[in-house]
Amino acid sequence: EAENRINVIDDRVRPAVDIVSLYPRDMNIYGDTGNVLVVAKRLWLYGYQPVVHYVNQGDAWPEHVDIILGGGGQDSGQKKIQDDLMARAPQLRQMADEGVPMLVICGLYQLFGNFFRTIDGDEIPGIGIFDAETLGKTARLIGNLVASSDYGTLVGYENHSGQTFLHGQTKALGRVTSGEGNNAEDETEGAQKNNVIGTYMHGSVLPKNPKLADFLVMKAVEHRYGSFTNLADSSMQAELEKLDECARQASQVAQH
Ligand code: GLN
Repeated sequence: EAENRINVIDDRVRPAVDIVSLYPRDMNIYGDTGNVLVVAKRLWLYGYQPVVHYVNQGDAWPEHVDIILGGGGQDSGQKKIQDDLMARAPQLRQMADEGVPMLVICGLYQLFGNFFRTIDGDEIPGIGIFDAETLGKTARLIGNLVASSDYGTLVGYENHSGQTFLHGQTKALGRVTSGEGNNAEDETEGAQKNNVIGTYMHGSVLPKNPKLADFLVMKAVEHRYGSFTNLADSSMQAELEKLDECARQASQVAQH
C-alpha cells in the first residue's frame, strides 16, 4: 500500500491556498465564474488545496486571501456593488501593493480604475488601483478579442459600452490584434499593475489562456508560501498537459 502511494499527494497535507470569488452574485456575466474553477482546478493539479470563499456585499472577509477573482457585470450590477467595493477599497489597494494577484473582468475592471461615467451620465466611482477612466459610449464593442501579451496570445470575448482609457504609467495587459479591447481608439487591451490584471475578456478567459492562469496561480502560491513548487505527480502533470493542449486548440479556433 505504502509503495502504491509513493508518488501520490497525501490529500491531508496539501498546502491550502485561499481564493476569493468577489461578487459572484451580481458580477458574473458570460460565465466569468469559470475563472474561479480554473484557478481552483490548476491549484489542485499542482498539489495544493484550493479553498474558495464567495464574497458578496456585506460578507465577512476571510482570514487568509491569496488571490482575488471578480467578473463582469451590467451597469446595474456595478451600481449594486459600488458601495461595498468602496468600503473594501483601502484593503484591496493594500493587497495590490503587497503583490496579491487579482483578476478582474470588464465591469469590475472598470471599477478598479478611477471612475466609470455611464451613458446616462451617472458617475460610478472606482477604487483607483489602475490610473484609468471609463466612459460609456453609444456603440457597444462586441465580438471576439485577440491580444498579444507577456502571457502569449490571449483570446476572449468582449461586450461592453464603457471604453477605458489608461493614463500615466499604467501598463496595458496586451496589444489588440483583433477586436477592440479597452476602447475603439488605441489598440490597448486590459491593464496590469503589480500582479493585478484587468481585462475585457470574458469567455471565461482562463480556460483558453493557461499561461495567464498559471501566472495568477503561481503568484497566489508565492503570496502564501514565499515560492511556488510544483507538487504534481505524473498523473496530475499529464492532466495539466491535456488541459493545456485543449486550450491551445481552442485558442487557435478563436483566432480564425
Ligand atoms: N456595464 C459595463 C459596460 O457595458 C460592463 C459590461 C460587462 O461587464 N460586460 O461597459
